[in-house]
Amino acid sequence: MAAVKPERKSYPLLPLRDRLVFPGTTSQLLEVGRARSMKAVEMARAGSMRIVLCIQRDSQTLDPTPDEIADIGTLGVIKEIAKNPAGHYRVVIEGITRVRLASYVATEPGYIVEVEELEDEPLERSESTKATKMLMEQYEEYVRATKKVPPETLISIATLTDPGRLSDSIANHMPVSTEEKQEILEAVSVKERVKKLVSLLGKEVELVNLEKRIHRRVREQIEKNQKEYWLREQMKAIQKELGDRDDVSEADEFRGKVEELGLTGEALERALREIDRLEKMPQAAAEAVVVRTYLEWMVALPWNVITEDRLDINEAQKVLDEDHYGLDEVKERILEYLAIRQLVDKPKGPILCFVGPPGVGKTSLAKSIARALNRKFVRISLGGVRDEAEIRGHRRTYIGALPGRIIQGIRTAGSRNPVFLMDEIDKLASDFRGDPAAALLEVLDPEQNHGFSDHYLEVPFDLSRVMFITTANTTHTIPRPLLDRMELITLPGYTEEEKLQIASQFLVPKELKEHGLKRSDLAISTDALRDIARLYTREAGVRNLERQIATICRKTAKDLVSGRRKRVRVTPKNLGKYLGVPRFHYGQVERQNQVGVGAGLAVTEVGGDVLACEVSVVKGKGKFTLTGQLGDVMKESAQAGLSYLRSRAFDLGLSDDFYENVDIHVHIPEGAIPKDGPSAGITIACAMASALTGRPVRHDTAMTGEVTLRGRVLPIGGVKEKVLAAHRMGIFNIILPSENRKDLEEVPANIRAEMAVTFVDHMDEVLVAALVPDEDHRIVPIPCVEAGSGQPSAVPSEAR
Ligand code: ADP
Repeated sequence: MAAVKPERKSYPLLPLRDRLVFPGTTSQLLEVGRARSMKAVEMARAGSMRIVLCIQRDSQTLDPTPDEIADIGTLGVIKEIAKNPAGHYRVVIEGITRVRLASYVATEPGYIVEVEELEDEPLERSESTKATKMLMEQYEEYVRATKKVPPETLISIATLTDPGRLSDSIANHMPVSTEEKQEILEAVSVKERVKKLVSLLGKEVELVNLEKRIHRRVREQIEKNQKEYWLREQMKAIQKELGDRDDVSEADEFRGKVEELGLTGEALERALREIDRLEKMPQAAAEAVVVRTYLEWMVALPWNVITEDRLDINEAQKVLDEDHYGLDEVKERILEYLAIRQLVDKPKGPILCFVGPPGVGKTSLAKSIARALNRKFVRISLGGVRDEAEIRGHRRTYIGALPGRIIQGIRTAGSRNPVFLMDEIDKLASDFRGDPAAALLEVLDPEQNHGFSDHYLEVPFDLSRVMFITTANTTHTIPRPLLDRMELITLPGYTEEEKLQIASQFLVPKELKEHGLKRSDLAISTDALRDIARLYTREAGVRNLERQIATICRKTAKDLVSGRRKRVRVTPKNLGKYLGVPRFHYGQVERQNQVGVGAGLAVTEVGGDVLACEVSVVKGKGKFTLTGQLGDVMKESAQAGLSYLRSRAFDLGLSDDFYENVDIHVHIPEGAIPKDGPSAGITIACAMASALTGRPVRHDTAMTGEVTLRGRVLPIGGVKEKVLAAHRMGIFNIILPSENRKDLEEVPANIRAEMAVTFVDHMDEVLVAALVPDEDHRIVPIPCVEAGSGQPSAVPSEAR
């Protein structure tokens, strides 16, 4: 605590607004204008010239009351006094010592206060030196940092050795707030005062440094920008000198394109960033090539190009009819689908999937849809795609990376809303390189595809306006989640009559045009067309038919150009001259009844077909061989057929152990096509029965059905395709499982009328219908009774 002098003395009081006067320092010129303050100065002048200086708490108060005046101040002596023209005093005061206000003796006309002088609480000698040293060091640092202290101040301060005085002097000069200065003034303990001042100096140095740092950073940034600008200009100039670039730099060209495209958001940011990078790179750098390719992709994509839809159902109907014969049901479903798209702006419905064998018009239907809607059309094939990157692109870190097929397709289309055909979705594969189906799922999902991200582009592209259509030959191999997303439209294949119509109305005119021929140059008679379909092609669609017509057109063109003929007329008679030897037999698989050969109806990837099944029986030891790329299910059904025959050995006139003395070989030709499924069961069993008994199979009959061990015939799928195939091949007698009777409805009535169908429940009936009867033929159709049903069974049970 400060040592308080016993006596108290009274002095006039001058309240200060903001400039403190410390003991041992001389004030600047103070202007005294307030009435009470002027009186105080006058009283001091009349007395000992001594006056007490105290800070008022709020500098704005004009006439502060005693409570608004701090109670620790400085006792000073007036050194100079003068009056200015306004009648105010101007004084210079020297501080003598700290005082505490004990009481107010008078308040009018000016304040007179009674004060106690406060003497510094000194430090010990050693402490005092240390404190002085510390203060000086800190102060020097402050001076260095601020560079605002005039040299004479420094000199005057440097002469002081007492830490208390030194503190007062330094505080007096520092441009800090009045409150902070008052705190120093109030510190009667020298130790306390030094501590406060050191921390204040430290704070100030920190602030100054911070300010400097900010300044430097701002300046550096500005300099960097200027420097870059300057360098860029230099580079342009150099490149121009070298003839490297035209007036407009490549980067500027890209910038122009980006602006033209109206890119926004992430894509814009990304493009600009890459342009900046490109600009800074030397032209020939390997990385520049990568960046350039990337930018070329970015500016080539139709980010904002949307074609306007023609939403007119009648027009769509017209276009579909113009391009395709028949297919009424399919067209109807397409129109319904389009109608919904017309009513809903962004329909989130399923994706159309055309399912059918090759050449039935799946691709050309999709093209027609695009034409009807007045949209761009693009097609990609998914056949054999086994790498996710083919759909989604490679990351740019790969050498030669490119966007995936989707983005490539969009670029080709040139609009953001094309009709996008994905062919052969059933031929997708997947392996260790990722699952392309998963990527496709994202592409086809309307909830997700507005932000489709290609690994190469790295910015999302909106696919939500694309109309995706897929095609497949079969639905079995389409991954389930994809299948669920799609609305299937099946195109089973054409009848012969339809093919003739398509050929004469569409394919012939089209091929004539493509080969630059006039209608009068070439005529192909209907009979010739029929022969082409029957003898030169064997297909559900019309692709090969179209090819054969094209061949005729080519040869005709050659004849006309060489001047050998003026016009060509193709009839069944001269067809061979144009197309060579017929490739197929029409009418039956075999030309006459044969032992051990049955005709089966099947559905393969190329549509319905008639496949021969051959069986040979030779002496042996009971070996059973199956060949012709048969699947497990087919092999099992052949086994079932054999078991049935063993159980019927007696009725077939065979010995009980016939199978122990023979080797049986079943072969289904056209081995290149993998075959599977149970529907060849009755054909194989029938051919085996024929081979074992020596009774020929009727060559004009084809059959399909699954067989059980007990000879029951179970229903199969694909009736429509199979019947059409038989009809196409000129086979009019067919054997079908009874339970498939209802499916026959799907077959066009005119075809049905030409077919003689035998419905069967049991293998015995198949043998009766398919084998050529002989005198002592023994097989009597027996009603099939379930084993274990309690009824006496004429049918041998499996256990036997
Ligand atoms: P897919 O895609 O089913 O394999 P395409 O669409 O390529 O078959 O058809 C093969 C050819 O047959 C095309 O030239 C197509 O115009 C033609 N075509 C198919 N069906 C018809 C039809 N109903 N009417 C007219 N032309 C057809």
